[in-house]
Amino acid sequence: MSLSVTRAAKKAASELLGQTNRARYSQVDVKKIAAALNIDVIEGEFRVENGKDVSGLIKMSGKNGRPVIAVNTKEKPQRKRFTIAHEIGHFMLHGNEQLHIDQDFEFAAFRDSTSSLATSLKEIQANQFAAELLMPSDEIQEIIRSNFPKKDITEIINEISKTYNVSSLAATIKISALLGNA
Ligand SMILES: [Zn+2]
Repeated sequence: MSLSVTRAAKKAASELLGQTNRARYSQVDVKKIAAALNIDVIEGEFRVENGKDVSGLIKMSGKNGRPVIAVNTKEKPQRKRFTIAHEIGHFMLHGNEQLHIDQDFEFAAFRDSTSSLATSLKEIQANQFAAELLMPSDEIQEIIRSNFPKKDITEIINEISKTYNVSSLAATIKISALLGNA
């Protein structure tokens, strides 16, 4: 995978976050960001024909012609936040797609048998975008730098999870990615 693919996604998230007046080291208000982009966010229970749950979707032209993000009401709050951020990523990066439906998008990138390479790349980009929007790399790097190795990595993961209101899994993936690129 070309690095520029993910770099572009991270850059887009970082620029979008830069336009908000959020305090550093605090959770990102994804609904507010969606609203600023004139995107409606709704919750509901969504299933596709095979009966599998849909995590989220984005329709570029919903009611009143405005884009709409729908998230599965059954999911945990942190997961919903990630889903909204992921769908904002599709909006910013893949806006030419009229309707994008996500089932288990966290793993979509690894299901080569069911998803084409182009689909996988879009999911990777949307995930990179979401991770950067919810956990800005410069802040996470600073948290790691000032706490490691004084604190156990599990403690740092918990701190990031709490500060940014993201799942431990999302925080772990973010830290791994940053340490991997160091
Ligand atoms: Zn997606």
